[in-house]
Amino acid sequence: MAFKHIIDSERCKGCGLCVDVCPKKVLEISDKVSAKGYFPAYQARPEDCIYCTLCCVMCPDVAITIIETKDSNEAVTA
Ligand code: SF4
Ligand code: SF4
Repeated sequence: MAFKHIIDSERCKGCGLCVDVCPKKVLEISDKVSAKGYFPAYQARPEDCIYCTLCCVMCPDVAITIIETKDSNEAVTA
């Protein structure tokens, strides 16, 4: 069992709260603008993510999700 960290770049408003809260400094703000005109967060160092969920809890726009996967490439279907 593994986990996958997903940022919905169309929900993200680029506030940077998740970047600040991440204890492993995984996240950064992109320099590419989203369809809604924001600069979204992304996982700059995904290999360092410990799936602590702090960023998910912190995000005011509920843009970050962590899902369980069977392996690192495949999502679990309910
Ligand atoms: S789950 Fe934890 S370690 Fe991973 S990006 Fe979010 S705050 Fe950082
Ligand atoms: S906390 Fe949410 S809205 Fe703010 S930058 Fe992170 S993902 Fe985007």
